Amino acid sequence: MNVYDSEVLKGILSQKGYSIASKPEEASLIIVNTCSVREHAETRAIGRLNELSRYKLENPDVKLAVIGCMAQRLGERFLKEVPALDLVLGTEELFKLPDYLEKKGKNPTVALSFSELRKFDSLPQRKNKFSSFVAISRGCENFCSYCIVPYVRGPEKNRKVSEIIREVQCLTESGCKEVILIGQNVNSYKDNGCDFADLLKEVSKTNIQRIRFMTSHPKDLSQKLINAMSDLEKVCEHLHLPLQSGSDKILEKMNRKYNSSDYLRLVDSVRNKVEDLSLTTDLIVGFPGEKEEDFQKTLQMVQRIEFDSAFMFKYSPREGTQAFLFEDDVPNGVKLERLQTLIELQKKNAQKKNKNLIGKTEEVLIDGKSKRDKASWKGKGRRNKTVIIPKGENDISLLGEIIKVKITSADSFTLFGGIEKDKCSDKNLINM
Ligand code: SAM
Ligand code: SF4
Repeated sequence: MNVYDSEVLKGILSQKGYSIASKPEEASLIIVNTCSVREHAETRAIGRLNELSRYKLENPDVKLAVIGCMAQRLGERFLKEVPALDLVLGTEELFKLPDYLEKKGKNPTVALSFSELRKFDSLPQRKNKFSSFVAISRGCENFCSYCIVPYVRGPEKNRKVSEIIREVQCLTESGCKEVILIGQNVNSYKDNGCDFADLLKEVSKTNIQRIRFMTSHPKDLSQKLINAMSDLEKVCEHLHLPLQSGSDKILEKMNRKYNSSDYLRLVDSVRNKVEDLSLTTDLIVGFPGEKEEDFQKTLQMVQRIEFDSAFMFKYSPREGTQAFLFEDDVPNGVKLERLQTLIELQKKNAQKKNKNLIGKTEEVLIDGKSKRDKASWKGKGRRNKTVIIPKGENDISLLGEIIKVKITSADSFTLFGGIEKDKCSDKNLINM
């Protein structure tokens, strides 16, 4: 969501005549968008802002702004952490940044209101990307006990279907091939009797070629949505379904509203319906009260389900959340050990899953050159896996194309392969 907000703000600023500076010393305005989900992210943001403050000390005309969740959480308190700040704009006020820049006066501006959501539907569109995020909702009201998001992003607000379709159409007209529908909890989406499965159907009717979405909450994963995933060809075979813990005792304390048996039932339903589904998840270790046996239950679930990939976190107490009131009683060393054990298991599972794809064909949307090897193309398959294609002879530009790739090798994180010539149409590309 932060990446999306940054892109939208970039669009708003470019409409006002701003352009991106190539280095901070050339910038007249420096903006840092922030995350509050874990303490580590906040510590880094403060360090980065204090480091960037030197450009303002060297040139007082430079403006320094902090936006997003941490700005929303700390408000005025941010000015004590980073005295050089000119602007502290919360998660919805950030879209008004150009207006605040025009305000004269010496005192820094702190704006944290949630009342400007009517702006949400008239934000400028981002262009010329082959894969684009499209927010379908903002905020969250699930109040998982560990999570700061409902406090810094406010209650869930859904966009209108017509607005979402308009944005998708606009993106396809500018060459976009894939949209990633995003929200904190996309599958609780509702607009005038239209739910998330209906929305997927509507987006499928546009000229977009691929549809992804995240994040889904297990408590809102309906059979209707599973059927839509299976029936709608443009919807990719990937589901990000955070489990968080394998222990029912911990899931209850987390206020997740499902237990491990519910989760297993959902996994069976979706795997039965959607062929070759890639299933990914989020997991937290060291939540208050997590005993060794609870952690073992998480390991058992991970072993049994075999996720394609997982984001794994050490519990970080967040002031203001319900869990902040619980004793943070798992020692840091134990949290780290559990995290390491979990990562090792997940890595093994991911490698096994990826190796099973060797010899198979993936449809890959090429989005650039590989960071590891600049001569190779990289892209994403329908299952959200990164695929690297070594540069071939007489290489043509594949940027933005969807091509069929035969997988020849794999590690835990990446697939490698070559363009499948015999199965491809003109220029080795898929006509869709
Ligand atoms: N709405 C999404 C969801 O429900 O999965 C994503 C929200 S959150 C930004 C992304 C992930 O961060 C969560 O799924 C959770 O695993 C992790 N997370 C959130 N709060 C955390 C905390 N206090 N400590 C550690 N991990 C946390
Ligand atoms: Fe946080 Fe839970 Fe909402 Fe996700 S669903 S944003 S974890 S409160």
